[in-house]
Amino acid sequence: MNSSEKTALRKPYSRIYVEEAAAGHPRTAQILAKFPESVVIPIGDYKNVFNRPRQPVQLQKEAPSLILALQKPPYLYAGPAVCQDFGESHFYYTSNVMNCPFLCDYCYLRGMYPSGDIVLFVNTEDTFCETERILKEHPLYLCISYDTDLLALEGITGFFGEWVGFAASHPALTIEVRTKSSPNVLNYPVLPNVIYAVTMSPEAVIERFEHRTASLTARLRFAKSIIESGRPLRLCFDPMLWVPDFETVYGEFFERVFSEIPGEAVKDIGVGTFRIAADYLKRMRKNHPCEVTAYPYTLTDGVYGYDAERLSEMLSFAKAALTKYVDEKKLFFS
Ligand code: SF4
Repeated sequence: MNSSEKTALRKPYSRIYVEEAAAGHPRTAQILAKFPESVVIPIGDYKNVFNRPRQPVQLQKEAPSLILALQKPPYLYAGPAVCQDFGESHFYYTSNVMNCPFLCDYCYLRGMYPSGDIVLFVNTEDTFCETERILKEHPLYLCISYDTDLLALEGITGFFGEWVGFAASHPALTIEVRTKSSPNVLNYPVLPNVIYAVTMSPEAVIERFEHRTASLTARLRFAKSIIESGRPLRLCFDPMLWVPDFETVYGEFFERVFSEIPGEAVKDIGVGTFRIAADYLKRMRKNHPCEVTAYPYTLTDGVYGYDAERLSEMLSFAKAALTKYVDEKKLFFS
């Protein structure tokens, strides 16, 4: 049996690589305790495993291993131009996790990482320390579910709960946690500076392109629980994809969303279409050819996206449809 065949037979998280420097960390012990059956493999630097060339990424994504490691500085990064800043002046992001348990066909991580395994950086205290240092200079808007879906991994990591505790004692910090999952978060305190951002897509798009994510019904249930418990809710219609009968599919979808979620109760809404750095798309076309990557996108300033006419058609349609339900001031377009 070759190594690819062996990888195919594994269950998710049945192998856990532990970086030497992370071995004695209390969070490493907490995470390992959740996987008593898994094989634990000591390693030097996590990059020796995660960045290996020619890995069977597709197979790894089906049954990822975990890699527990220590993150090194910088812990926070300035938000990239392709991402929506929602009018915030100090937009940063951070990643205590690299890679995602979900399998969206259009995900840029497929073009960014050479591995399908999931890295968990156990030293969150260092990220908090750096966040405090920056907060001494100015307020901060920080996306914490970046390069992953943090809430989908909460049962393993507990990182989100730690961030909520940190945000509770740092009111100048606003965090956004974005998800396509539908967890129960009602045990966490209600805080005005913790924004729950739920990515919504038509059911047909979820089934076809957002593998393993929560259904639209489950995401709507989750979004409702956020609003009803007094937490700030952001809806993300991003990325919208050009699908056959676009206007019918997305028109019925918006109608369904706002038949269940009162527009006036939503904090704000992000709207965007699929776009991706040229290098990432090139790698995705090679490693994960699919309907989304096969589309003939237009290249503008190093970013592939829909051509100007289609883009305008999609965004104008979304704007006209969404302003039936929410004040235009709540809409942020990418
Ligand atoms: S949920 Fe987000 S991070 Fe995860 S695979 Fe989908 S697009 Fe990528």
